[in-house]
Amino acid sequence: MASHDAIVVGGGLVGAAIAFGLQRLGLATLMLDEGDVAFRAARGNFGLVWVQSKGIDFPPYARWTWTSAEAWAELHDEIRELTGTDTGYSRPGGIDVCVDGGELAAKEARLERLHNHSPHFKYEILDRKALAGVLPGLGPDIAGGTYSPADGHANPLYLLRGLHAGFQARGGRRKGGAPVTAIRCQGGGFAVSTRVGEYQAPRLVLAAGLGTRALASQVDLDIPVGPQRGQILVTERLKPFLHLPVSRVRQTAEGSVLLGDSQEDVGFDDAATSDVINAIACRAVRVFPFLARARVVRAWGALRVMTPDSCPIYEQSAESPGLFAAACHSGVTLAAAHVYGLAKAISEGTLPDAVTPMTAARFAHAPH
Ligand SMILES: Cc1cc2nc3c(=O)[nH]c(=O)nc-3n(C[C@H](O)[C@H](O)[C@H](O)COP(=O)(O)OP(=O)(O)OC[C@H]3O[C@@H](n4cnc5c(N)ncnc54)[C@H](O)[C@@H]3O)c2cc1C
Repeated sequence: MASHDAIVVGGGLVGAAIAFGLQRLGLATLMLDEGDVAFRAARGNFGLVWVQSKGIDFPPYARWTWTSAEAWAELHDEIRELTGTDTGYSRPGGIDVCVDGGELAAKEARLERLHNHSPHFKYEILDRKALAGVLPGLGPDIAGGTYSPADGHANPLYLLRGLHAGFQARGGRRKGGAPVTAIRCQGGGFAVSTRVGEYQAPRLVLAAGLGTRALASQVDLDIPVGPQRGQILVTERLKPFLHLPVSRVRQTAEGSVLLGDSQEDVGFDDAATSDVINAIACRAVRVFPFLARARVVRAWGALRVMTPDSCPIYEQSAESPGLFAAACHSGVTLAAAHVYGLAKAISEGTLPDAVTPMTAARFAHAPH
């Protein structure tokens, strides 16, 4: 049975970030990943590093998001220096476009709540005229938008590749095609079984996205995550027209435009469907009418790792210290917090103070 300082189950955005972080601290870490055959939000997401919608009614999550957004440039540089992979990260600020006055008023009220408990969070309400000045080609019936200088974006696939490559460059060991089927406490540490072997370590981190719930139920952890489908469309490459990400329209460095994304409760079904594709395209054309002439080259559905309140869950087992679980919806945004703060605390056998309000205990009295 091979032995390591830490085992991370899951090689999606959360598992890869934690494994990268543990390995950079010198812990010999093994990442066990089911791989691309699994439901994997990491390969289907939109790529926002987004602050303006996070933790509006849950200040600890707003602070954790802020911490990560502030550390993202450091993560981008570290991955590039270590692996040569450019995550495509930039932080030009971001805009949430509101198609009518009702949306704008509701968004303004939400951002005011966020600013009230997190005064460092700054935002501007843009009326139609101001928004049209920032977004050339804006549709005639768009009411306005909200701008936050804290927002940014990155290429999530390059981020995932960079985390994996950096982890391995530092000596981390990754095993793909290795779904973990059983975990057990053994001799003050943990043993895990896969179809390709058995492994043990004094620290074990469950970060297997939608697979975490079943694994956690084998021990004393309840991680109530479930699937929420999001669909995304991608256009052919267009001349640059969007210098900053807009909540549901993002132009990549290569020129493709991502349009998204839906929020659907359809269980473990990650298909793309014509009705949702149509709704996404119609809204995008309302925001930028010239997109009606752009060809859509690809569309996909992917399953978010969703908690009952959309905020992350971080746990350490009370019965078996050293056993951790992490699950969240915003794995791109939180990547830097996972690489730095979360991994450091796990290496020291604890959770960061910042995330202690984010255990699943907050759902104890709510049905899920
Ligand atoms: C449509 C969509 C848009 C999104 N947009 C954004 C965005 O703009 N910004 C943002 O920050 N986030 C976004 N996200 C969320 C982000 O993708 C997720 O938060 C992130 O991918 C979750 O990472 P994860 O590692 O927990 O899960 P996943 O990425 O799903 O990875 C789980 C991993 O665990 C492995 N696994 C599962 N079971 C086992 C097992 N038993 N043994 C071993 N391995 C196992 C799988 O192989 C997989 O690699 C979006 C998600 C979707 C679906």
